[in-house]
Amino acid sequence: MSIGLADTTLLRNAAYIDGHWVQAAKEKTFQVHNPATSDVLANVPDMDAEDARRAIQAAERALPEWRALSAKQRSQKLRAWYDLITEHADDLALLLTSEQGKPLPEAKGEILSGASFVEWFAEEAKRIDGDLLPSQAPDRRELVLKQAVGVVGAITPWNFPSSMITRKVSPALAAGCTVVIKPAEDTPLSALALADLAERAGIPAGVLNVVTASHGAEVGTELATNPAVRKLSFTGSTAVGKLLMEQAAGTVKKISLELGGNAPFLVFEDADLDQAVAAAMQMKFINAGQTCICVNRLMVQDTIHDEFVERFAAAVDQLTVGNGTEMGVKQGPLINRKGLDKVETLVTDAVGKGAQVVRGGERHALGGTFYQPTVLTGVTPTMACFSNEIFGPVAGIIRFSSEQEAVRLANDTPYGLAAYFFTRDMGRIWRVGEGLEYGMVGANTGRFVSETIPFGGVKESGIGREGSKYGIDEFLETKLLCIGGIEPLG
Ligand code: NAP
Repeated sequence: MSIGLADTTLLRNAAYIDGHWVQAAKEKTFQVHNPATSDVLANVPDMDAEDARRAIQAAERALPEWRALSAKQRSQKLRAWYDLITEHADDLALLLTSEQGKPLPEAKGEILSGASFVEWFAEEAKRIDGDLLPSQAPDRRELVLKQAVGVVGAITPWNFPSSMITRKVSPALAAGCTVVIKPAEDTPLSALALADLAERAGIPAGVLNVVTASHGAEVGTELATNPAVRKLSFTGSTAVGKLLMEQAAGTVKKISLELGGNAPFLVFEDADLDQAVAAAMQMKFINAGQTCICVNRLMVQDTIHDEFVERFAAAVDQLTVGNGTEMGVKQGPLINRKGLDKVETLVTDAVGKGAQVVRGGERHALGGTFYQPTVLTGVTPTMACFSNEIFGPVAGIIRFSSEQEAVRLANDTPYGLAAYFFTRDMGRIWRVGEGLEYGMVGANTGRFVSETIPFGGVKESGIGREGSKYGIDEFLETKLLCIGGIEPLG
């Protein structure tokens, strides 16, 4: 169906393997829906392990030539891809909103943020250097080489269908690796559009492949177990990440896991409340709460609790819910029925255990998978929304009385992705910043994501980092080259 793209070829209904737009070997397909309207957007190939093997073989064949290019040549291809992504940003954003539901300005933000990783790694490609070590033996020279890991399997979720791909693929290609991508079932169209632009950018056949599937497990398992895949980079739930880690152990693959979060947001009594409310709104309701770094537990010090709740609820009243393509909409639908059911279950559990509903608390009158922006107070650690990733527009507020209690509550989770806190006390910024067991901590800000920072978690939130000067290491092996028998100068 037409969704109003200026460049209609960006809406692809075939997978991309070895430079060809192909159907599944068994010719099966599945439908991709718009979550705001339930319209069918496209039918794409429903691929299985056999198709995944075809893509892996293509990536294996393409590897020697791609990694043999000079860093500058790879950089130029990535730069051409970046230029095309930014040139087509409006179309890519419309496609993203259509399959995922987030408001159009947020979708455009994701496209540009995703593109910034391509630009960054196009530059980093030229800065992969090695080392010359001081040898213990006078007749030896010891060098450290950085070499491409090999074929990479990339498995991505539906909540950031475009930027989760560019964050993995651009450092992989910059390092000289080739890639097989398996996008999420709900959002394969953004991945296919990126592949279309990669083809136009002159990225050679087999270097980047996209395998679409309606049930991730089969293709995912092939990527995790096939010996030709030397690196698995996964973004998604902690449960699936653990499974893939087990599967990848069989061939001792290098792995990166970007998994679930349970972000605390601490507001101390000396905080600038305007800043804290604005940041809490942003980091709670972005993408309708379906972001791994979304605020999951809002913790507010006793003495300012009521004032914070009043101001926060007033800000929530300003949120417009609707189809993400409509002007002024700030919150779209949830991705699917399963997501809606999870949010409802968590709210019912919290209310049943004594939480008070300050705003929302029910499905939205728009029907479908729309849910009301919701504020709960009196949330405690016994409630499921304290320990589970909510992944919806529900803000549960917890009271605390002291700094120690706040940090203890914040760390009381197996997750460790992002954390935020607001205070104007410099000593506390250091103490709390160091005390929070998280991969990323924002003090007096909710915004830190960009291509320049190392994104990733600790504990059960993951392994490895994406973005920044550290991100390319995930796709490189460190190799020793020792040259012996060097006679002294006579
Ligand atoms: P998910 O269910 O784990 O799915 C993620 C990807 O894995 C999808 O492509 C999915 O395919 C595939 N998959 C599902 N089961 C699999 C299996 N048994 N073997 C191999 N692959 C499998 O996660 P999601 O619901 O899409 O995404 C939300 C989760 O991602 C949240 O927990 C969120 O916090 C996390 N996330 C983390 C980050 C981060 O950077 N840390 C960023 C974004 C999201 P299908 O779609 O076909 O099932």
